[in-house]
Amino acid sequence: MDILEKIKLAGLVGRGGACFPVAKKWSAVAQALADKAGEKKCYVVCNAAEGEPGVIKDDYILEHHADQVINGMKIAVDFLSAYAKASADKGVVKGYLFLNYGYNKKLKKKLTVLLKSSVIEIFVKPPNAGYIGGEESAILNAIEGRRVEPRLKPPFPTTAGLWGCPTLVNNVETFYNVSLVEANRYENKRFYSLTGDCPREGVYDLPESFSIEKILKATKNYPKFPFFVQCGGGAAGEVLNSRQLKRSVQGAGSITIYSITKNNYKKIIKSWLNFFMSESCGQCAPCREGTFRLGEVFLAGKTDWVLFNNLLDNLADTSVCALGCSVPVPIRSFLKNVYPQINQANESTNFTTNIQILK
Ligand code: SF4
Repeated sequence: MDILEKIKLAGLVGRGGACFPVAKKWSAVAQALADKAGEKKCYVVCNAAEGEPGVIKDDYILEHHADQVINGMKIAVDFLSAYAKASADKGVVKGYLFLNYGYNKKLKKKLTVLLKSSVIEIFVKPPNAGYIGGEESAILNAIEGRRVEPRLKPPFPTTAGLWGCPTLVNNVETFYNVSLVEANRYENKRFYSLTGDCPREGVYDLPESFSIEKILKATKNYPKFPFFVQCGGGAAGEVLNSRQLKRSVQGAGSITIYSITKNNYKKIIKSWLNFFMSESCGQCAPCREGTFRLGEVFLAGKTDWVLFNNLLDNLADTSVCALGCSVPVPIRSFLKNVYPQINQANESTNFTTNIQILK
């Protein structure tokens, strides 16, 4: 059975956050190679940029399983090489490991040995590229030496990626899983980052079918105090209360635990807004202006909640990339799922009476 068939049978989905079926993406790149008469080049890119708060799994995987990640990349290169060589112009496939600046400092030696004599090279994420430097099309811009900002899609990287050539972009955990699938060792598990108010912060390898509650209990991190969680990303992730933990973790596989008594939730909302404002690449007005205005409106003495809500709608509907579109996710889910549980006695009238607008 060839690797594409194996990946399809395993039901493997991308672990970068979007959960896109891996076999579908690989097939799209192979098809683009077959379609593009005269196309000579094709690229495989591993996204190891990892930059969202609370998401630390790629760091762990590269530290403990770098050989499997590189092997997964090599499998992708071999798979696409077969299509490239079959083309009239005998195409070539090249790979880039797009690596977080800090991870490169820590792991360069080991990774260089693993990549020796391969067609894959390390490309270090520019230190000032920020969170958006991990968006797949921003990565392509960085490698091409352009401004690090997302591209308008379509076209998608699968058909027009690096220098306009078909390009396969998967993240660290996805390539790690490809390696397991190839060796018939894939067990439908995934890595979870657990951070925040928990005694055993870290990265855990557990079945992807596990609910949030099961993960917290299996890792001995289930809090004994009133709490809520943020799942799938420490900034853009959805916020859930402690009665909503029967569902599985989506997105980037992170769970951040917040103690209700220990944290000031206005500070938490402020930290989300600060994150989005400082990480906005500034390319599109809804996000560049909207994230700034949200902070301004939220921190004003008397918050204009109607305006705040309109700004959130505008971000969700008109931003160019997922960063802007996801700003409302943590704020609205917090207000819907957690805020009603918090003792409102000490809150300002402005916040408690007007917050209804946002739920
Ligand atoms: S939504 Fe924000 S991060 Fe994305 S392209 Fe627009 S300005 Fe840049």
